Amino acid sequence: MINEKMAGLGKKRSVIREIFEYAKLRRAEIGAENVFDFSIGNPSVPTPKKVTDTMERLIKEKDPVMLHGYTSAQGDLAVRRAIAEHIESKFGFNANPDLIYMTCGAAASLTISLNALVNAGDEVIVLAPFFPEYRVFAEKAGASLIEVLCKESDFQIDFAALENAVTEKTKAIIVNSPNNPTGAVFSEETIIKLAFLLNKKQMEYGTEIYIISDEPYRELVYDVTVPYIPKYYDNTLVCYSYSKSLSLPGERIGYIFVSPNINNSTDVYAAVCGAGRALGFVCAPSLLQYTVGECADVLPDLTVYRKNRDLLSNSLTEYGYTVVPPDGAFYLFVKSPEEDANAFCERAKKYELLLVPSDDFGCKGYVRICYCVETKQIERALPKFKALIEEYK
Ligand code: PLP
Repeated sequence: MINEKMAGLGKKRSVIREIFEYAKLRRAEIGAENVFDFSIGNPSVPTPKKVTDTMERLIKEKDPVMLHGYTSAQGDLAVRRAIAEHIESKFGFNANPDLIYMTCGAAASLTISLNALVNAGDEVIVLAPFFPEYRVFAEKAGASLIEVLCKESDFQIDFAALENAVTEKTKAIIVNSPNNPTGAVFSEETIIKLAFLLNKKQMEYGTEIYIISDEPYRELVYDVTVPYIPKYYDNTLVCYSYSKSLSLPGERIGYIFVSPNINNSTDVYAAVCGAGRALGFVCAPSLLQYTVGECADVLPDLTVYRKNRDLLSNSLTEYGYTVVPPDGAFYLFVKSPEEDANAFCERAKKYELLLVPSDDFGCKGYVRICYCVETKQIERALPKFKALIEEYK
């Protein structure tokens, strides 16, 4: 008998993938220019030139046996050194290459970190709305997922709700800022309060509670800064990814950084290495490792995302939608004009507007609109959004 739970996961696509596949079908049926696909967070900005130039040079100049060969299981040492230096210079935080583990993107970083930390019966807290795969990763690691809804007023943490949710079984809390799907960035004040609460609870229960900081959108921010959580809270693992910042989502590259301030950080790192091994996530793609090692300081060009964000959020607000103002990432979180966001998304399909209902993100009544698309797609979609809201007036 096969593993029915896995078969179930394989058969049921995520709601995002479902709409993404539907968009492909519709494009074939009615032409790409008539479909307004806002479903998936595939960066629309090209990979920065320094990154593609570096890849080309590595392919031309580096010994191919080295370039395409296995690295150390945890990643090439020179690459991990370069990333550690980058963390030190950017955040003024002491980083040790021996606490960095190269991965195939944030998804791998998360699942490795969760497997490294969780024992059967542990609880992992997620702040809703949250990336739906957290549930899959946490449950596979043996944890129960505990959802804590953020405050609807600004999508910062609801500390009263969080305090109630932390128990002696809490092993970790996943923090994702800038957030998918709201675009909210947790302020320094929020992170300080979070650190205070978790330290208090650790003392009270005599346990270790880890923050897993999921950071694929760290570089995608508009006029705000994203606090570096290891500076505020000792028990932190950073799950970083280059998918969105360097427009490399298909290449699968990122890393885990275990804070040196964690109690027994070398044991936690050993557990990360062990989980990577047990899950088959060793030796992240070598060409990509060498590339990011040389491009650790490359930043994305945010011009198009900023323009898209402003155009979409200003126009939708003007038409009468309630929009959560996003400080980062490339998602707009919009209140559904009817209670059932699924019904609203079905209605939007009449206009070929493909939006994602918020239910699977652990928060009902909203839709997520990815604005990592060409600006002209937004321009052509705006009259459709206008007509759609008119139906509710
Ligand atoms: N975490 C969040 C919040 C995401 O939005 C995504 C991808 O969209 C991931 C993790 C996975 O990222 P990666 O492509 O680096 O695995």
